[in-house]
Amino acid sequence: MADETRRHSGPNPEDVPSGLDPYTEFDDFDLPSYVGRTSFHKLPELTDAAALAARRPDVAIVGAPFDDAVSHRPGARFGPRAIRAAHYDAGSPNSLQLGIQPFEWIDVVDAGDAPVTPANIERGHAVIRRKVLEVARAGAIPIVLGGDHSITFPSASAVAESIAPKRLGMVHFDAHADAANSTWGVLASHGTPMRRLIESGAIDGRNFVQVGLRGYWPPPEVLEWMRQHGLRTHFMTEIEERGAEAVVADAIAEALDGPELIYLSIDIDVLDPGMAPGTGTPEPGGMLSRELLRAIRQIVGAVELAGMDIVEVAPAYDVSDITAAVAHRCVMEAISALAAKRRAAGGTARPSGRSRDG
Ligand code: MN
Ligand code: MN
Repeated sequence: MADETRRHSGPNPEDVPSGLDPYTEFDDFDLPSYVGRTSFHKLPELTDAAALAARRPDVAIVGAPFDDAVSHRPGARFGPRAIRAAHYDAGSPNSLQLGIQPFEWIDVVDAGDAPVTPANIERGHAVIRRKVLEVARAGAIPIVLGGDHSITFPSASAVAESIAPKRLGMVHFDAHADAANSTWGVLASHGTPMRRLIESGAIDGRNFVQVGLRGYWPPPEVLEWMRQHGLRTHFMTEIEERGAEAVVADAIAEALDGPELIYLSIDIDVLDPGMAPGTGTPEPGGMLSRELLRAIRQIVGAVELAGMDIVEVAPAYDVSDITAAVAHRCVMEAISALAAKRRAAGGTARPSGRSRDG
């Protein structure tokens, strides 16, 4: 773990040391992204619950490499690795959007993957739920990399359990409502997690807010169930008419109409397939990448975030890694907004991240 003590600390590549041994002159964190460690942004890997509980990071990345519950094209099990790899920055990243080097303000680790196995939905969801609960109980905000969207049921259930008796609201970006009762009789598919979350009581229907729905699914009876249970639904046509910022402002208010904390679930297919082709059920006519990234900054900057996931990245259908890249940036926008809030609240910068990395 010797190099764990030096992450964040080194120079950016612009500062070239001279006269040093070339074998050791750069920390792994400062080497190119395609070299060395494969954790999210080369952050320290803390896969053990006891180590997480001892460190109590602000945020922990969790992989949920599970896609046994899809209704159409599979492949999102390879999403977590693709998202982790989808950056080209070396050293401490600097958000030009928010004017902050996020890792200098908050402690972010990679908690590794939930130990899923193929072809076993029940087991996969159980281990994802346990992994997310370990992270949340360690005081960290879990940011879960899917995986198909069925993982939101175990993930958001774990977050709701960890914050109880405080209540959780949901902002859900997606082309699809994912609120069916079943798909071909399967209750735990990626077309049903939102109904399971509401039926189980993890989140009240009236605080369940969906943004970006479009296309030709679900059928009228599912929309009627959603109406009966009070879900607030913002179709893509409303974003076209009012603009994303106004719609997202309403979504925040609706999700927090009662609850104190927010779970943010982002299905990458909320984006237009021209900007995010690497997904299992692409639906034309979606949001722009810049609209979604701005929406994440808007939401995380305004609410208390309890958990987040980014799902349905299926690298086999991707083109030039652009879908994985925008998913990675979704995570970075959230982390940067959390860091900016820490600074705005009068927090102190971690001295180049060094002091807490032991
Ligand atoms: Mn979905
Ligand atoms: Mn979808």
